[in-house]
Amino acid sequence: MNNCIPIHPVRHCLLALALSSMALASAAAPVISRLTPPSNPPSAEAATLARFLPGQRFDLQATVSPDAGTSIVSFSFAVDGVRVKPAANTTSMVTTGLNAKRSDGSATPTNAAVVSLRGYSNAMPGMHQLSVTALQSDGQTVTRSGNFEVVGITRQGKVAKNIILLLGDGMGAAHRTAARIMVKGYAQGKAQGRLAMDTFPYTGMVMTASLNSIVTDSAPGMANYVNGNKANNNEEGVFPDDTSDAFDNPRIEYLAEYLHRLKGKNLGIVTTADVFDATPAANAVHTSNRGNGTGIVDQYLDDRALTGLTVLMGGGRKWFLPNTSDKTSPQAINGSQRRASTDYVLPGDIVAGWGTAPGAKDPGRDLIADFTAAGYAYVSDKTSMDAASTPDKLLGLFSYSNMNVAFDKINKRRGNSTVVDDFGFPDQPMLDEMADKAIKVLSKNNRNGFYLMIEGASIDKQAHLMDTDRWIEETIEFDRAVKVAQDFAATHPDTLVIVTADHECAGAAIIGAATAVMPPSPSAATVATYEGAHFPKYTIAADGYPQTTDVPGRMLIGYGANADRYETWLSGDQPTQDLQQPFIGTAPLSHHPRNPTLRNASTGFLITGQVPGTNAVHTATDVPLSAFGRGASLFTGTYDNTEVFFKIGQAALGGVR
Ligand SMILES: [Zn+2]
Repeated sequence: MNNCIPIHPVRHCLLALALSSMALASAAAPVISRLTPPSNPPSAEAATLARFLPGQRFDLQATVSPDAGTSIVSFSFAVDGVRVKPAANTTSMVTTGLNAKRSDGSATPTNAAVVSLRGYSNAMPGMHQLSVTALQSDGQTVTRSGNFEVVGITRQGKVAKNIILLLGDGMGAAHRTAARIMVKGYAQGKAQGRLAMDTFPYTGMVMTASLNSIVTDSAPGMANYVNGNKANNNEEGVFPDDTSDAFDNPRIEYLAEYLHRLKGKNLGIVTTADVFDATPAANAVHTSNRGNGTGIVDQYLDDRALTGLTVLMGGGRKWFLPNTSDKTSPQAINGSQRRASTDYVLPGDIVAGWGTAPGAKDPGRDLIADFTAAGYAYVSDKTSMDAASTPDKLLGLFSYSNMNVAFDKINKRRGNSTVVDDFGFPDQPMLDEMADKAIKVLSKNNRNGFYLMIEGASIDKQAHLMDTDRWIEETIEFDRAVKVAQDFAATHPDTLVIVTADHECAGAAIIGAATAVMPPSPSAATVATYEGAHFPKYTIAADGYPQTTDVPGRMLIGYGANADRYETWLSGDQPTQDLQQPFIGTAPLSHHPRNPTLRNASTGFLITGQVPGTNAVHTATDVPLSAFGRGASLFTGTYDNTEVFFKIGQAALGGVR
C-alpha cells in the first residue's frame, strides 16, 4: 500500500486495493509495454544498456496499457526492491490519445498511461534492479523489471580540470587522411608533416551506433558521448517515449549539467553550424525532435543555470530574431524562423524534478536581447568578436543558419570570391578564431574549470553533398582549431583534449589521383590508381589553406554511400544550396546549384549512387578518436561511444595515475 503514488483522488488507490483483496477473476491484465531506462533482456550478452555516473540524474518512466473499461490509478517505482520516494510534484501520468503520434511519426499505444518519476539519481556503484508496479481501477496490478548500472569512479590521481571535446562531424579516417595529404604532402611514401590531431599521443576507435540503428545521425552521435546512454536517431538528451510531445521525454543529465552541478564547471559551445543543430544542442538541450529550433535555442538561455552556459558561438541568428512581421510566410522579413510549432513548454513534473524553466510559446521573443540582458556580450561578425576583448559571457551569431564553409570564407578573405556576400555575412570568423576566443572567455574566471565542445560541422554537411574540396578544406579548418586547443592544453596541463567524430559520412575513400592532364580538361582525365596516383602536390598559402585545389594530378575521392551526382573532378565556384538558409529561394542564393544531381549537370558525367535522395548518407564505420593532455591515456582501444562519457567522468572526477 505504501507503494501507491496517488494520482488524483487518493481514494482511488485505496478503493482499488480493497477491490484487489476480493480476488476478482479476470483473464485480461494491464500490460507494461515500456520501462525506461531501457534494459537488455537477461539473455543479452551485455548485461545492461543504461549506465550512469554516480549521482547522475535521469527520469524513470513506464507505459502501461489498461484493460478495456478500466484505467491506471496509481503507480510506483522501486530500485533494488525499495520504493523510490518522489520529491514533491515530480511524478505525472499522461494518457495517450487515439491516433497520437510520437515525434518520429510512429503511432503511440492508444489510451495508455505514461507514468513518470523525474530527476532520479543513484550514488551507489554497481548493478541495480529497477521495477515499476501499476494498479488498475479493477484492482489488478502489473509489475515489470529491468536494470541499470552505476559506474563507479576510482580516485587515483590528478583530475582534468578543463575538458575540450572537438567533434569533426562526419569525420572518418578518410577525411583525416585527405586533409593530411592536401595540407602536408607526401614524398618517398611518407607524410611530410602531421595534422595537429595526428600528434595526439593516444588513439582509439569508436563504435557509433545509436539506440535504434547501426547508422546514427548527429543527435545521438553527440549525446551518447556526453550522457553515457544510447538515444534514438533524431533524439538528444532523452530516452524514447510514447507521447507526442517532443520536449517531455525522459531526460538524462548531460556532462555539462553534471559537472556544473557537482563542480561548478562552465560550458562553452562553438560550431560552424546553426547553433540549433544536433551536435551543439546535444550538449545542453533535451528533446526527441532535433528540428525544434525555437525551443532548442530558448533552452540554451532558459536553462543556463543548469548547464553553466558561458560561450555560445556559431550560426543560427534566424532562431534568435523576433518573428513579429509575418508568422505564416516561409520566413519573416527579418529572416526569423521562430515558430510556436517548434517552441517548448515543459510539463510541471520536469520543471519540479530538474529545476528547469517552464518554457513558453513565444515566437515574438527577442532572444538576442534576452541573452544580452542576462549578461552575455553579443558579437555578430569577426570584427566585433575581435573587438569584444574578453567578456565574462559571450554569444556570437555569425549568420542566419549554418555558417559559410572554409573554402568560401578563405576565398573571400583572399579577394577571390563573393559567395559569403551572397549570404549577407561577408565577415565570418574561422573555427580556429572562434575556438581561441571561446577558450579566452572560459579561462577568464576559471576557478572550477570548463567543458568546451568545438564542432567542425560542415565536414559532414559537405560530405553529404559530395563536394570534395569543401569538406577537405573544412577538415583543415577543424584541425587548426584542434591546434588552438592543443596549445592551450600544452600550457594548462590540467586540460584534457579529445578529437573525434560522431559518425563517418558518405563512405568517403581516397581512390587515387587525376591523370596529370586535368585540369584544364576534365573530360580527358581518367582516375589514376595505385602507382599511377603518385603523390598529389598542393601549394599551401600563408593562410594555411591550399592556393588552389585544382592542381594537375589532384587527389580524387570516391563515395561508398553516395546518391547520384554529376562529377567533374574539379572544385566548384559555388556551394550547393543549403535548405536551412531562410532566403535560399531568392537571388542571389537561388543561383547556387540546387543539389548534387543538378550540380555540374551540363559539364560533368553522371555517377549513379546506391542510396535514394540527392545526398550521400552516414555510414556505420568506426571512427578514430585522438586524445591529448590530462587523462588522455584512458582513451586507447576500441570502445562504444557511450564509454567516452565514463572515461571523461573518470578523468574529471577520479583522475589518472
Ligand atoms: Zn550528417
